Order: sequence, then C-alpha cells, then structure tokens
Amino acid sequence: MLQGGGSFVPKKLPLNNLDKFENLGGIQYAVRKIDNFKDKNILISGGGDSALDWAVNLAPISKMLTLVHRRKDFRAAPDTVSKMYQMKEKGLIDLVIGQVKELKGENKLEEILISSIDNADQKIIKCDVLLPFFGLTMKLGPIANFGINFEKNLIPVDTEKFETSEKSIFAIGDINSYPGKLKLILSGFHEAALMSQAAHGYVYPEKKIRFQYTTASSSLQKKLGVYNK
Ligand SMILES: Cc1cc2nc3c(=O)[nH]c(=O)nc-3n(C[C@H](O)[C@H](O)[C@H](O)COP(=O)(O)OP(=O)(O)OC[C@H]3O[C@@H](n4cnc5c(N)ncnc54)[C@H](O)[C@@H]3O)c2cc1C
Repeated sequence: MLQGGGSFVPKKLPLNNLDKFENLGGIQYAVRKIDNFKDKNILISGGGDSALDWAVNLAPISKMLTLVHRRKDFRAAPDTVSKMYQMKEKGLIDLVIGQVKELKGENKLEEILISSIDNADQKIIKCDVLLPFFGLTMKLGPIANFGINFEKNLIPVDTEKFETSEKSIFAIGDINSYPGKLKLILSGFHEAALMSQAAHGYVYPEKKIRFQYTTASSSLQKKLGVYNK
C-alpha cells in the first residue's frame, strides 16, 4: 500500500563533488548535536529561518561562521535577521552575498569557493562543515521504480479498489489520483476502507468478508479494546 506524496528531502546544491563531501561528513542538512560544531569553521548557505536561526545559534561556539546568501534580503524572522547583523558587527558572523561554487579538500572538506552572483568576484573560505538550508522538496523514493504507472507524480487508481496498474499494489491518500479526488484525511479513510476489502481478497481468497459496524459488532469492539458487556 502506498501513501503520501513522497518523503521530504533537503534541496541540494548543484555541485559535482557533493556526494564525496556528504559521505565525508562535510555537508550536513540538519543540526543534531550542537557540540559537533564546536570550534569548527562553519559555512551556512541560505536566507530563510533555518539558515538564520542556526547562524545565530552556532556562531558563538564556532571558530568562524560564514553566512552565504544570494541576496541582501532575508526571508527569516526580522528579529533573527537583526540579531545576525548585530553578530556581524561584532565579527562573530562573516556575511557574504554570493553563492557556493566549489567544494575543495582531499579526505575532508577544507575550503569552499564562493563567487558573487555575476561571477565577477571570487573568494576561498576555510570550511570544515557546510550547512545548506534551501528548504525541502518531495521525493517519491523507491516507489518510483516499482513499475507502477504515474501521472504527474501521482498514481491513477480506480475508485472501487484503489488498485494501481500493478495488481495487488494499492495506493490511497495523497499519492493517488482519480476524477473528483480531494486531498483530505477523510478521503484517505474512505479509500482505506474500500482498499482493505479488495486486499482481503488477495490475502484470503477463500474467505468472504462479513461486513460489520463498530457500533454494533462485539468482535470488532473486542479487537479495538472498547468492548463493554
Ligand atoms: C496545511 C495542511 C492542512 C490540512 N488540513 C486538513 C484538514 O483540516 N482536514 C483534512 O481532512 N485534511 C487536511 N489536510 C490534508 C491531509 O493532511 C492529507 O490529505 C493527509 O495527510 C494525507 O495522508 P497520507 O497518509 O496520504 O500522506 P501523508 O500524511 O503525507 O503521510 C505520508 C507519510 O509517508 C512518508 N513517506 C512518503 N514517502 C516516503 C518514502 N519514500 N520513505 C519514507 N517515508 C515516506 C511521508 O514522510 C509521510 O510521513 C491538510 C493538509 C495540509 C498540507
């Protein structure tokens, strides 16, 4: 059974050797333990809340924190933006308007080449860890390779069984599409009920489904742990 429109994954920088430095731990998409960033040369790229929040929080413990953003305007909370500028004045944050162009290093991330948007100016910054914060995007993941028919990243289904183009693979919830589809929890429950009946036929081909109401069926109430004699 397939659900949802995919999993959220971080948007990545379009750089050739990104994989290499991701595997070496030089690129992190989240801060899990602040201590891991202590006394490090940190480069944060982005201009939203995550970028600014972490710039402000990591700068005091870092060796040096560089914030790189494509524009002078930030999309983060104004209070955080002004805190960032205060820290810049104190020399705790180096703010660079530009973009990350190249990652350098042999067995670990060592330097990052930053350029201005028009590529006229370039500079190299010492960096142990790069934190790109460009938001999240939806990725279908392995189900994209299941051999199921997709239309615009959604799975067309029939509205009797919610079965995909592959027999015995069902799709309910936001991932499916059919005429009149409403992306609602309510629709997901309705689809689950009908899909379960169809799936039951595959799992127990010899058994008939006995349709029951939870309000009236003691066996269903027992399964749900709400049976009162
Ligand atoms: C802002 C907002 C408000 C809403 N309010 C309402 C409301 O008031 N009432 C209502 O009925 N509906 C509402 N909805 C719609 C409702 O949230 C969705 O219809 C419902 O959550 C769909 O359920 P789902 O299980 O199909 O998908 P999801 O809830 O998206 O769950 C799918 C899960 O699968 C995970 N997943 C997907 N792909 C992978 C993968 N490859 N690997 C690992 N995990 C994966 C996802 O991370 C996610 O956790 C709202 C939606 C939004 C965005």
